[in-house]
Amino acid sequence: MIPARTFSGKNVALFGLGGSGIATARALQEGGAVVTAWDDNPASVTRARDEGIAVQDLRRADWSGFASFVLSPGVPLTHPKPHWTVDLARAAGVEIIGDVELFARERRRSAPEAPFIAITGTNGKSTTTALIAHMLASAGLDTQMGGNIGRAVMTLDPPRAGRHYVVECSSYQIDLAPSVNPTAGVLLNLTPDHLDRHGTMQHYAGIKERLVAGSDTAIVGIDDIQCAQIADRLERAGHDVIRISKRLAIADGYFADGHALLRAEGGRIGQVATLEGIGSLRGQHNAQNALAAVAACLRVGLPAKDIQPGLDSFPGLAHRMEQVGHQGRVLFVNDSKATNADAAAPALSSFPRIYWIAGGLPKEGGIEPLRSFFPRIAKAYLIGEAAPSFSATLGEAVPYEIAGTLSAAVAHATRDAVRDEAEDVVVLLSPACASFDQFKNFEVRGDAFRAAVLALDGIEPIGGTRG
Ligand code: ADP
Repeated sequence: MIPARTFSGKNVALFGLGGSGIATARALQEGGAVVTAWDDNPASVTRARDEGIAVQDLRRADWSGFASFVLSPGVPLTHPKPHWTVDLARAAGVEIIGDVELFARERRRSAPEAPFIAITGTNGKSTTTALIAHMLASAGLDTQMGGNIGRAVMTLDPPRAGRHYVVECSSYQIDLAPSVNPTAGVLLNLTPDHLDRHGTMQHYAGIKERLVAGSDTAIVGIDDIQCAQIADRLERAGHDVIRISKRLAIADGYFADGHALLRAEGGRIGQVATLEGIGSLRGQHNAQNALAAVAACLRVGLPAKDIQPGLDSFPGLAHRMEQVGHQGRVLFVNDSKATNADAAAPALSSFPRIYWIAGGLPKEGGIEPLRSFFPRIAKAYLIGEAAPSFSATLGEAVPYEIAGTLSAAVAHATRDAVRDEAEDVVVLLSPACASFDQFKNFEVRGDAFRAAVLALDGIEPIGGTRG
């Protein structure tokens, strides 16, 4: 745990007592703050009290006595409307911050030289975060990974010289981290998402921009217009900017050409690594993630010789194009995290011949946006509530069956795929749907797929994925 010593002796209000809220309250108490915590859920309040955290209904608190208000990133700061605690804090003129801000202040106080890489973007955050942490750790560097990817940032080990922090930041966390100052900040991409929580695209992009604007070096993916403009704006303002592109040859920065990852400096181009044969980093979207990771690792001093081995040994993340196993020439891939059509597109674009398991609770628009990938689909196996509407979209274009359940889909897709004589055949779960009609969440759905695959005869597992 990182004691939040910058708050020593201060009165701090805290709202949101889920896992990271409790960890943050503890870090504040450990650092010597006097914490007053609350949550709208009585069970969370009781649990926090049982864990020794001082709780009080913040409606009845004297806000003039608080130095800071720490808000959990799950609680609305702005959209659709500010939470009631936000109104009270603003009325009393109390700063509103989150756990990433606590971390940033503590690092500045105790070890400002500790390398700190922060990652944001609409898509690919977790993959890039895990990849960077993997590359640093496998080169033997002291590495801590946390933030939105899972482990609450204040539960990491305390900052000290030579300890590397790799922190995934959601927009909500950045919104609550006004002074965050990473050594390298990565902004991968920006597409409309979560606009219900951020209002306009402009507001959403503005929040993401703050992370890279606060960084010593801004690493920005310029393949979408919003991010390209952010890179230009930062550079004009005198920031150190490294551009990355998964498809354009650029004069300065990092770009991909097929599997090759290239670095251009003043027009001189050299290869830094290749993604050839790395199953966990298949697809153009992963080239963007890998370029960002390479740029960030080199920026914090990872020796060039450690780049390729770090990429080669990346196990990938569970449920994101996770390679589960082989049966002969047939590869089984779990992409359960693809809960809408946009999220399924990268997987469908990464394989030439697909036995596709799709369906669940459909989202607006269904699979119409995936039509350009239909020629790659040898057959579709439809499950859950979406089956009738998806079959209507597939129509005559793609052979399909209504398999109903995931286990039937795995069995039938396997039966058909092993008979296929093509060289690269994949049985792919990339549902383009939420899971809630048949599973608790996308993780449980992915676990069920993995278990069904690993129970097949003659499967050679591909192990090592991290959760
Ligand atoms: P996040 O943490 O931002 O949600 P993940 O790394 O968990 O992103 O990846 C989630 C899904 O997003 C992947 O399964 C893939 O379909 C898609 N994805 C990953 N990286 C990118 C990228 N750079 N650009 C577009 N889509 C991506």
